[in-house]
Amino acid sequence: MPDFLPGEVWLAGAGPGDPRLLTLLALHALATADDIVHDALVDPRALALKRAEAELISAGKRGGRPSPNQRDINEILIERARLGRRVLRLKGGDPFVFGRGWDEALALTAAGIRFRVIPGITAGLAATALAGIPATTRETNHAVVLAAGHRADGSSTTDWAALARLGQPIILYMPMSQLPDIVAALQQGGLAKETPAALLQSATTDSERVVESTLGALLDDARRNGIGSPAILVIGSVVGLRRQLLPRLAGWQ
Ligand code: SAH
Repeated sequence: MPDFLPGEVWLAGAGPGDPRLLTLLALHALATADDIVHDALVDPRALALKRAEAELISAGKRGGRPSPNQRDINEILIERARLGRRVLRLKGGDPFVFGRGWDEALALTAAGIRFRVIPGITAGLAATALAGIPATTRETNHAVVLAAGHRADGSSTTDWAALARLGQPIILYMPMSQLPDIVAALQQGGLAKETPAALLQSATTDSERVVESTLGALLDDARRNGIGSPAILVIGSVVGLRRQLLPRLAGWQ
C-alpha cells in the first residue's frame, strides 16, 4: 500500500454502503488517517473501520440542518492538511460521480496540497448489479446513461427528451425530489409508459428496497411502497432481465 503521508488528502469513494464493497485502498486509508471528513451517505459500518484515535468530521446534512457549503469543506481539508494531518475525504460511491469530488480536487490543487483520488463503486452500478439488473448485455445495449435527477441548487438543465431518444438504459441518481417531472419529461420525450423501470433504495443497507415497475406506474408504485432517498432509478429493458435471475439470485447479505 502507498504511504499515507502527513499533510496529504486522500479523496476516496466508500462505495454504496456495505463496507465489504470498500476498495483495499479505501480500507487502508481508513485504518491510517488522522482525520476523516465524510458525507452523510457514508455508512457508519465503514466509519467504524477507522483508527480509534482518528477524528471524524461530518460534512453532510444532520438533523435537517443545512449541509456545510462546499467552500467550508474545502477549507477544512486544506487547514487539516496544512496542520500535517493525514486527511481522508470519504464520499459515498465514487468521488467523481455526482459527488463534488472535482471541486475538492481543484481546491486542493490550487492550495498546493498533495492528494490522491481513490475510486469507489458508484451506487448506480452497485445497486443495479445487486438487484440482478445488468448495466449492459450484448443483446440489449452498448451504452448506458448515468444522469442526476437534481442538482444541489435544485435546478436541472438535463434535456430529458434527448436522453429518452437515445433508447439506452438510464441510471438516475437523486431521482426522488423531481420524480413526477422526470417521468413526465421522459414520456414526452418518447419513452413508452410500458418501459420497465425500477427504484433501488438504500442498496446494501438494512433498509434496502427494490421496486420493479414501469414508467407509467412508477409514481404510484413508489408512493405505495414508501420509497425515499437515497435511491437509484433505472429505466430500460435491462430492468426486466432481472426476472430471469431471481429464482437463484442471493441477496447482498
Ligand atoms: N458519489 C456517489 C453519488 C452521490 S449523489 C456515487 O458515486 O454513488 C447521492 C445519490 O447517490 C443518492 O441520491 C442516490 O441516488 C445515490 N445513492 C448513494 N448511495 C446509494 C445506495 N446505497 N442505494 C441507492 N442509491 C444510492
